Amino acid sequence: MYADLHLHSHYSDGTFTPEEIVARAKQQNLGAIALTDHDTVEGCEAVANECAKVGIEFVVGTELTSEHNDHELHILAYFVDPKNERLLREIAKFQIVRQERIREMVAKINALGVPLKAEDVFALANCKSPGRPHVARTLVRHGQCRTLDEAFERFLKKGRPAWVPKSKMSALEAIELIHQAGGLAVMAHPGLNRTDESIPDLVAAGLDGIECFHTKHPPTTSQHYLGLANKYSLLVTGGSDCHGLSKGKPLIGTVRLTREHFDKLKAAAAARKSVPVK
Ligand code: AMP
Ligand code: FE
Ligand code: FE
Ligand code: ZN
Repeated sequence: MYADLHLHSHYSDGTFTPEEIVARAKQQNLGAIALTDHDTVEGCEAVANECAKVGIEFVVGTELTSEHNDHELHILAYFVDPKNERLLREIAKFQIVRQERIREMVAKINALGVPLKAEDVFALANCKSPGRPHVARTLVRHGQCRTLDEAFERFLKKGRPAWVPKSKMSALEAIELIHQAGGLAVMAHPGLNRTDESIPDLVAAGLDGIECFHTKHPPTTSQHYLGLANKYSLLVTGGSDCHGLSKGKPLIGTVRLTREHFDKLKAAAAARKSVPVK
């Protein structure tokens, strides 16, 4: 078992630095990793440099928050050019959306009589792509909640009083955006979203792969998506979705993709790059 292709760093809502991710990957004997921070590729250069030092294969990635037919869907991008202008321009828009959403959530929390400053959330997040976990951590740090779970339960979960919907790009646009940046588009953790009915539309838009192996997929779920990968001729990926220490034990290396599947992904990316994108 070779690769963990779903990892978050402190450039989104993970806690690890690039150095920590790569040190842990080495300890875990991983042959390849991808960084898939939410709506950013900011950490990729640093992780690539660390990987080069210790002989781990690195794949540039990001996890785009998108939607299709009113369902939130996360689309993983692999092997994209991290300097692609259109990709950077589009994700920058969604980073601004994330920052504005933090201000709205903080205002709602304040309206409930709980003191919290947006600037404190931004200082703790210290990244361009902040999210609800940063609000939760700030609430815990300032003693307003005992645990992150409490923060989500009281304020931040969908339907709770400080929850704010997030405007997202369409999943079909996300696939096109990834392709024009030379990458492969993969449906993340389909078992979490339970939106199998979206798959034919995504396939028609050029979806390249599906994340069959994931921390939250029991074996029967992985088998189900391996069946769909076969049915729709999709590449198979997998990863732990490690967020560092934010959810207790770090997950890096606990979900792995075989070298065979990883090599197929690499070959597909190489084939994509050899064809000029219009
Ligand atoms: P956002 O991108 O701001 O919508 O935040 C989504 C992130 O919040 C996901 O990556 C999850 O890791 C995290 N998250 C969602 N629900 C919970 C929860 N109940 N407890 C802890 N973390 C959560
Ligand atoms: Fe996350
Ligand atoms: Fe996700
Ligand atoms: Zn993720």
